[in-house]
Amino acid sequence: MSRFFTKTLSALEPYTPGEQPQDMKYIKLNTNESPFEPSAKAKAVAAEHERALNLYSDPSCKLVIDKLAELYDVDPENVILGNGSDELLFFSFRAFCDEDRKAVFPDISYGFYPVFAQINKVPYNEIPLKEDLSIDTSDYKETGSTIYIANPNAPTGLTLPVSTIEELVKSHPDDVVVIDEAYVDFGGDSCVRLTKKYDNILVIQTFSKSRSLAGARIGFAIGSKVLINDMNTVKFSVNPYNINSMTMAMAYGVLCDEEQTKANCRIIAENRDNTIKALKELGFETTDSKSNFIFAKSDKISGGELYSELKKKGILVRHFDKERIREYNRISVGTKEQMDAFLKAVSEILEETSR
Ligand code: PMP
Repeated sequence: MSRFFTKTLSALEPYTPGEQPQDMKYIKLNTNESPFEPSAKAKAVAAEHERALNLYSDPSCKLVIDKLAELYDVDPENVILGNGSDELLFFSFRAFCDEDRKAVFPDISYGFYPVFAQINKVPYNEIPLKEDLSIDTSDYKETGSTIYIANPNAPTGLTLPVSTIEELVKSHPDDVVVIDEAYVDFGGDSCVRLTKKYDNILVIQTFSKSRSLAGARIGFAIGSKVLINDMNTVKFSVNPYNINSMTMAMAYGVLCDEEQTKANCRIIAENRDNTIKALKELGFETTDSKSNFIFAKSDKISGGELYSELKKKGILVRHFDKERIREYNRISVGTKEQMDAFLKAVSEILEETSR
């Protein structure tokens, strides 16, 4: 830290992203990306919509917002885009939290929530997950704060039904409930329909997982017009051109090939369920993940050791050194070939360690 770094941020602990090795030698199952590239059709449509890069990108993001509005059956005024859903989460902390309106989220969830709270000087409460790692929304009784719930939750992959979230939204009419649906397309049920009924729910999704565009950095939020208006006030005060023209064209291309997105999600869900079954046969305990990752632990090997041994064999998974989940690893679901290689490596490691 330099002597110039502000005192207000001196204690800030930044978010640690998963490893992104640049030599590409690993089977990468650590950051929940899609193993599939955008389709040829998506790329062709994107090429038709490329814009000159000497001009600024469209700050209204009309091309993509209109298409999302059509696909999700909402008005364009109900939609905003972000530079990754991370940016939208950040905007939401700026818009709906401050010293007097704290943030509330589960103790085990997306690691960026406490970081966004800290950098924005927002007090926050972490509500413990139940023993089985599920979220019990009756623990979120307190009002006067903004509630963040990832559904499916990360890194557990567990989901809550829309009816449970609706109860939460209904019982907090004066609080914003932010539902982070980064992983919803792999088997969850979306809360987008609640945004038509309630003005206090903001649903955030991403193009990084089901839509194969992690590297393009684009996400979207859907909510009542008043909430989206507030989000736009923050966006136009921070970064009006937050979506670059190349990303805009590519995102539009991907949205024009929803069939491919759905087919990819079906493959991932199938590979996930098969891998979970195989891991259970190897003695692992897993959560009932409905996302594009698996959360698994074994009493034959510690979470940290399995992570390191897999890395030695060229396979990257994600290990969190947090007390309650230290014995687990989070394994992104890739192609069948990648999952077969992963399972083979796990079997070998278990055999080597039992000797
Ligand atoms: N929410 C959750 C729960 C996530 O796991 C991630 C991915 N790290 C994000 C949001 C952010 O995704 P992105 O910024 O790539 O849209």
